[in-house]
Amino acid sequence: METSKNSLVIMKFGGSCLKNRNSFIQITNIIKKYIKSTRLLIVVSAIQGMTNKLIEFYEKSCSEKYNCDLLVEEIYNTHIQLVDDILDKNQDEYDETVEFLQTNIEELKQLGRLIKLIRPSADIYDLVVSYGEKLSNFLLSKYLTSKGYKSNYIFSDKIIRTDDNFGRALPLLEETEVLIKQKLYPILNSDKNNIVCVSGYYGSTKDNKISTLGRGGSDLSAAILAYGLRDVFMCKIIYWKDVKGFLNADPRVAKKTSLIRNISYKEAKELAFFGTKVLHPLCLDVNEKSKIPSEVRFFNEPESEDFTTITEEIVQDEDIIKAITSIEKLSMVTLESDTMVPLSGTASKLFSLLGDNNINIVFISQSSSENNITFGIEYEDSMKVSILLRNSDFFGEKWFKIKIDHEISLVAVIGAGILHKPGIAGKVFTSLGENQINIKAIAQGSSELNFTAIIDRENCKKAINVLYDAFIGK
Ligand code: ASP
Ligand code: MG
Repeated sequence: METSKNSLVIMKFGGSCLKNRNSFIQITNIIKKYIKSTRLLIVVSAIQGMTNKLIEFYEKSCSEKYNCDLLVEEIYNTHIQLVDDILDKNQDEYDETVEFLQTNIEELKQLGRLIKLIRPSADIYDLVVSYGEKLSNFLLSKYLTSKGYKSNYIFSDKIIRTDDNFGRALPLLEETEVLIKQKLYPILNSDKNNIVCVSGYYGSTKDNKISTLGRGGSDLSAAILAYGLRDVFMCKIIYWKDVKGFLNADPRVAKKTSLIRNISYKEAKELAFFGTKVLHPLCLDVNEKSKIPSEVRFFNEPESEDFTTITEEIVQDEDIIKAITSIEKLSMVTLESDTMVPLSGTASKLFSLLGDNNINIVFISQSSSENNITFGIEYEDSMKVSILLRNSDFFGEKWFKIKIDHEISLVAVIGAGILHKPGIAGKVFTSLGENQINIKAIAQGSSELNFTAIIDRENCKKAINVLYDAFIGK
């Protein structure tokens, strides 16, 4: 029965929560509060800036000219300074951590030499950058032990299985769940006061090679662990961040913004699509699958009531519009047929051609005439798309005019069910029109979660503020 399950809170601490003595003290403050009422599983990122340092180390190791020993020294020094700041030299944890650090730094040095000898490869890259989380995980667990908590650590390559798309590996959820049940669950279940720390960001392939989940991947690690434990615990995830949560507009563009308190996974995914990078985008997919609620909270103010809760259900606030968002730099391609030949038959060829060439299509706009097709692409892809279309067998000069407009932006209003709500489109048209903003095309997501207007780039900022005032106002 649902209610008889023990509760488990999975907390992810990002790099900004792991930078100095104060941040470690803050982590214990948070833990102290939660451990009274729930089991805790902690997912750790590398300490702040460390992944970038490791990437630099890898890249420089690939080149003959650099002596990378200095960089390894820097990596060592950053860690040892932190160790000295947070651990007491008289405690066992200090010696254990220093020894662990030294062993791993030695391994890194060896790896650097190996990289100089062999050709650079994606799997060695992943191995190198995973050291950030390997070290921070051990450090945090030992720190908690030194503060009187019961803590274990486990390295994520033992429990997260991925494909072998190194650098951006995808989790294999079913296999991972089996590993989690075998190796992590018994530790969590044995003692409710035992705080288990797991390294974020990486897993391993079926050949036991370390594989990373892409930048910011520790969010995804937390989601994966929650997925694997969803039917043995009543789980909740808390992502501790350097922001309060999701905002309803981009503060760099909008004059007013406010915090979104409740949002569904579907809506949050829509925001991620439009460039709101609060969480790793895939982590929303995994959370949605497991139906586990999560919170994004501000690390510096853990007691604050201002945070975002993300749930499966759509919580309908008084306003249906959750956010106003935009993609500022886009290009819009219009293909026109010269003849009466409808384009519809070739649409699938067109989109598979673009798909095969890794062109991301940001929107497709319907027009009433069948003789033209309009779609949006990333600005950087404009040239590539132009060449692809002009060289394609399918599209000869006789059939088409190809027009690419480089100066456009997309603005969107987001909220679940907006397409069923009469008046939204009208209000977008009126408010933009009254402010002399010309709409070049409209598009709607198949998801029914957004209504999108394509406008000239010079109007982008203004359009966001106009729509914000019209739909949100506060
Ligand atoms: N340390 C990794 C990164 O900086 C993963 C993470 O922070 O989530 O991308
Ligand atoms: Mg990070």
